[in-house]
Amino acid sequence: MTLALPFDNSYARLPDRLFARQRPVPVAAPRLVALNDELARNLGLDPEALRGPDGVEALAGNTPPEGAEPIAQAYAGHQFGGWVPQLGDGRAVLLGEVVSDGRRYDLQLKGAGRTPFSRGGDGRAWLGPVLREYLVSEAMHKLGIPTTRALAAVETGETVLREAPLPGAVLTRVASSHIRVGTFQYLYARQDTEGLQALTDHVIARHYPGADGPEGLLDAVVSAQARLIARWMGVGFIHGVMNTDNMAVSGETIDYGPCAFLDGYHPDTVFSSIDRHGRYAYAHQPEIAVWNLAQFATCLLPLMPDRQAAVERFTDLVNDFGTRYQAEWLEVFRAKLGLSTAEEDDTALVHQLLDIMATNRDDFTLVFRGLADGSAADHVTDRPAFDQWHEMWTARRHRDGATEADQVALMRRSNPGIIPRNHRVEECIQAAVGGDYGPFHALHAALATPFDDHPDYATPPAPGEEVRATFCG
Ligand code: AMP
Ligand code: MG
Ligand code: MG
Repeated sequence: MTLALPFDNSYARLPDRLFARQRPVPVAAPRLVALNDELARNLGLDPEALRGPDGVEALAGNTPPEGAEPIAQAYAGHQFGGWVPQLGDGRAVLLGEVVSDGRRYDLQLKGAGRTPFSRGGDGRAWLGPVLREYLVSEAMHKLGIPTTRALAAVETGETVLREAPLPGAVLTRVASSHIRVGTFQYLYARQDTEGLQALTDHVIARHYPGADGPEGLLDAVVSAQARLIARWMGVGFIHGVMNTDNMAVSGETIDYGPCAFLDGYHPDTVFSSIDRHGRYAYAHQPEIAVWNLAQFATCLLPLMPDRQAAVERFTDLVNDFGTRYQAEWLEVFRAKLGLSTAEEDDTALVHQLLDIMATNRDDFTLVFRGLADGSAADHVTDRPAFDQWHEMWTARRHRDGATEADQVALMRRSNPGIIPRNHRVEECIQAAVGGDYGPFHALHAALATPFDDHPDYATPPAPGEEVRATFCG
């Protein structure tokens, strides 16, 4: 029996140059290793059916569910600033869209085999990046940060060849869409104005129904990205590959490759092994967003009747990212300091603390979490500097006016007690490769309540435990 899902595939009704019809390539011996029951239920899907034999065959790509119209999406993009006219889903297949509570969600299998966009790649994923994306995307969701999500992970029973032979896996990814800045670039580079109009109408209807035409869409996407990146900064998230094909126009975090969370704070922190020049370092992320949004704006220009006037207005909109981002960032960091009012010098107050932390790479998560219970000083190396800052902050808290209890409550729900630290994620992957999924499930469960205390996961890596580089998979 084939699993039946309530699909309604609006993307497959767009002009067919936006995708290639492509069934997932079957795998030898699928075994379900993780299923997100809560997400399944939210999508109106039955977790028991997904867990059953037909469900696992569907999640592995062996038997696409009834109602699916499997496609590989076409896109282009700037990778590390260099133009690549054709990328596309080289190892992912979009099964279709399910509508739940009036919202549309893509179900995509990542690691589903070769497609017309695979170029030299094998179309597969190995277990490590699949589990990394599962853990980190679910953590982001629970932290309240817009993101794609993970519905399931399946081991394929096949080996993929990376630096060594490694177990293969397929991730079922859920997203409000997989439409990227690079999707627009793909059409723009082909001077396909008709296609751009169709894609723009689709994106407005799907994500920004209030937006008035291409200009309204640009305005909305600038705001969504300002909001998103500010929230990344607030939890110390480094995306690692902010190429234009890895920026979703929905404003969700997408494409968890070599991403990681900061342990010790320093603005120049990079994890990705391929980011040799630090293009996508922690503190560069807002600038890169502007760069990507400028590419997006360029793609929308052919849709504007008065192109010259549009160039000026679009430039202003892209440049307004800075103001919008700054406002979002302040909102995030004020809350982290327990403040609910605004003062002129708040930006400086936050930066003074960050600078003190940066000097000795003090732990970002522990210092902020420690503000609520007075333990922050224990995690700061330069105590005299911190004590001085603490006095200014205390005075500021008095002027804020909220009760101490309210300030503490605000801090506790703005500063997580757990993040998916890189060395712990790696530990889960190592154990899973050895057949033990205990650590993976335990970490996943803890990440579901990030604003509780999780002493087992609070500690930063000891010297020697640090995992300095992350890899695409
Ligand atoms: P990413 O670095 O994950 O954003 O991927 C960049 C491009 O490379 C996309 O077009 C991917 O589909 C493609 N790609 C990545 N890994 C593979 C693979 N193993 N096989 C085929 N294509 C891949
Ligand atoms: Mg990508
Ligand atoms: Mg990727």
